[in-house]
Order: sequence, then structure tokens, then C-alpha cells
Amino acid sequence: MSLNVLSTEESPRFRAFGPHHIEEVARRYGLPADALEAVRAVSQVLPFRVNEYVLTELVDWHRIPEDPIFQLVFPQRGMLDPAEVELLIDLGRRAGRKEIAAEVRRIRAGLNPHPSGQLQLNVPTLAEEQVAGLQHKYRETVLYFPSQGQTCHAYCTYCFRWAQFIGDADLRFAARGPEQLLAYLGRHPAVTDVLVTGGDPMVMSTERLRAHLEPLLSVDTVRTVRIGTKSVAYWPQRFVGDTDADDVLRLFEQVVASGRNLAVMAHFSHPRELETALARRALARIRATGALVYCQAPLIAHVNDDARTWADLWRGELASGAVPYYMFVERDTGPRQYFEVPLARAHRIFRDAYQQLPGLARTVRGPVMSTTPGKIVVDGVEETPQGRFLQLRMLQAREPSLVGRPFRALYSETAAWVDHLELDPSTPPDIAAAVGPATRQALSGAHG
Ligand SMILES: *Cc1c(COP(=O)(O)O)cnc(C)c1O
Ligand code: SF4
Repeated sequence: MSLNVLSTEESPRFRAFGPHHIEEVARRYGLPADALEAVRAVSQVLPFRVNEYVLTELVDWHRIPEDPIFQLVFPQRGMLDPAEVELLIDLGRRAGRKEIAAEVRRIRAGLNPHPSGQLQLNVPTLAEEQVAGLQHKYRETVLYFPSQGQTCHAYCTYCFRWAQFIGDADLRFAARGPEQLLAYLGRHPAVTDVLVTGGDPMVMSTERLRAHLEPLLSVDTVRTVRIGTKSVAYWPQRFVGDTDADDVLRLFEQVVASGRNLAVMAHFSHPRELETALARRALARIRATGALVYCQAPLIAHVNDDARTWADLWRGELASGAVPYYMFVERDTGPRQYFEVPLARAHRIFRDAYQQLPGLARTVRGPVMSTTPGKIVVDGVEETPQGRFLQLRMLQAREPSLVGRPFRALYSETAAWVDHLELDPSTPPDIAAAVGPATRQALSGAHG
């Protein structure tokens, strides 16, 4: 490999900063008192985790609090009800631990921490037992959740897995090892894709990751291994300079040498994440293994809700040799009112960005809702003598006969999810039956 490698001396070891380090972060980076107070209060309710790289290379400290990366990783005042924030600040001054903890529990419960019992959906059974750490929704793809990969190098404030990061989710659903996955694949030869997801599987050491991946290489029916990760954005040292960075690249090469596709499903929320020398080098090194890199992220108010940002992001991905893949619609959990972008506006942002792209970046699809029956894309707005409609299409579905079929809903400027929409009465019955109750959302990897 001809690419320069940073020596480990130049590359500090990974260290996470959490709610207990807020004062230290504030001192080092000059967080204004008002923002500090908000972070301190809100991070009691919502997860908070950053690291040195995010703090020094990504956040623009001259633009606090509007900076999109600051919004991406630091809890904000507006994420909770103003009265709740005031209460938390007040309790922090005078109340005891127990009283604060009770209030925190009450506020969390109001934030839909477990949208639609997602952990139970689509969990397959083997010999009538539920298989821990697997989800099988689309015929050809299973999602695999290794238990050691259920955290991340930093937390996104919008993550729909937030309940897991505050210790309020049942992690018994995750897999300790690949034994059951292998048994399941043995009985389901139609599964060609295994998507390893989390949390972020790249938080695992190479040795651990190898223990999950290597056994897949003896399953002939598995043709593609995908790894969902935000590590290139949050800790590119994972591929450049970490003590086992070179080993992980060898592991990727091994998967490719087995004749399989290795696809890194990279989560990039903002073009700045692709601009650092480390991130570029990480992508170049990943690509040099023969792995493919596909990129996806949700559309989030305060972080990336304008067409220019997405056009820059997708152009940056293309320039790095990565493939723009999905723009997602944010899910119904956590501080959704803070992040929400209505479907009609989401479509305008997508279209305005898409129109600026060279053809090779028009591989991207969006805005996409990942719902119980499948992935639904908003394709456009249709003006007819009967009125305006939002054009929709199933991109991926549990039921294969629904895939690729267009349908439409009455236009709404405010609907932010398919369950806020009214379907056109002439919608084909099978689609109406599938999408009508599509109010629930499926468990899928955060980087699905
Ligand atoms: C998105 C997703 C997949 C992968 O779908 P592709 O369109 O093949 O990328 C698999 N499982 C679930 C549950 C998903 O949401
Ligand atoms: S979106 Fe991904 S990287 Fe961000 S906190 Fe969630 S699982 Fe972690």
C-alpha cells in the first residue's frame, strides 16, 4: 500500500468524553456559559458522547451553537420542552440525586424511547427460538447486531437508538457470537447479504470483528457483507493510525479475496466530515482493500436541512470514490420536533440538491422512510385537476410484489411521516393494505 500511514505516536488513542466531562470540554474549547448550562441539563436526559477528533477537527467553535456539527453531537436546549429544561437547571442547583433521576425518567418516557417495540419486530426464529442479534425483513438481507458493537465513537443527537445509549434498552437482543447467525444462514440460502450493524461495529477491535466476520466466509450463499458505520466521520483513526488499523484493512482484503463484495455503509451527515485529511485517507485506504463504500444519512433540521449541504456532501462522496446511496427521513423518537423536516420540504431539498449533481452522483435515492412494510421514497409532487398529490414509491418491501410500485397521497405541507398522510382512494388494495398501517417503524440498523 503506497499511502502514508500516521505512526501511532502521532495518533492519540481513542478516548470518549461523556456527560461527566462537560466542564472539561467547556474549559478547553470555550463553550459559552449559556450553551454549557443547556448541555449540562439536556445531557441528563439524552445521550452525549464525543471524542478528541470530533472536538478538534469537526466542530467549528466560532459558530456555537448554530454550527451543524455542534448540533450533531451536543444536546441542545430546544430538544426538550423549555419548562423541562428550566426544571432540570433548577433541580441541578438544589435537588438531590433521587429527585433529579425521577424527573429525568419522566421526561425520557415522554420521548417515545422505544418506537413501536422495534426490538421485537422481524426477529427470526430458529427451532422455534428467537435468534438474538438478527433481523430478517427483506428476503435477501439479514441484519446482524454483534453485542460488542452496540456503542459508537460519538453519539448523534438525532439517533433513534438513543434509548440504548442511556442504558434503557434491552441489549439481550444483540449477538454474543456468530453461531446462531451461521445456523440461520444454513437454513435460509436465499439470504445473500449480511449487514453488520449496531451501534457501530467498527468500535470493536479487529480481533473481535474478525470473530464475527470470518465465519461468514465459509457460507457460500453469502455474497455480500455490509458493515454499517459512522467511524470514518467520527474516528477515521480506526483505519489510519490506530494500533489495529492495518489489521482491519487486512481483514477487509480477506473478505474481498474470498470473492465476496464488502460494502462499507458509511454514515456522513455533513460535508465537513469528508474534508479532513484523516477522513480522506481513511476512505482511500478502505477503497484500496477492494471494499465498496456506500453513503447514507438522515435529513435533519439544524444539521443538514438545505440543498447546498446535500449537494456538497454527495459531490464530496463521489470525489472520494464513494457512492451516494440513501437520504433518510428522521424517525419518530427522541427530540423529533427539533429535528423534523416535513416530507414536502424534504423532497424539495432532495430535488434541489439532486439537480446540481453530475450523473455519477445521481445514484442517491431519497427522501426515504424506513417503515414496517418497507422503504418508501417521496418521488415528487403531482398537480392534477383533482388536486395536488405526493408521489410515493416502494423501494424495498417485505413483500417483493410491492417493490417498485408507485402510489400517491393527498399533498400535505406538514406531514413528516407516512402515517400523517392520506392515501389516494384509488391506491391499489395490496399497497393500501401494506402502507395503511405503516405507522410503525421497523428495527433496522441505525446505518441500515
Ligand atoms: C434499508 C434496510 C435494509 C437494506 O436495504 P437495501 O435497500 O438493500 O439497502 C435491510 N434491512 C432493513 C430492515 C432496512 O431498513
Ligand atoms: S446514528 Fe449511528 S453513529 Fe450516530 S449515534 Fe446512532 S448508531 Fe451511533
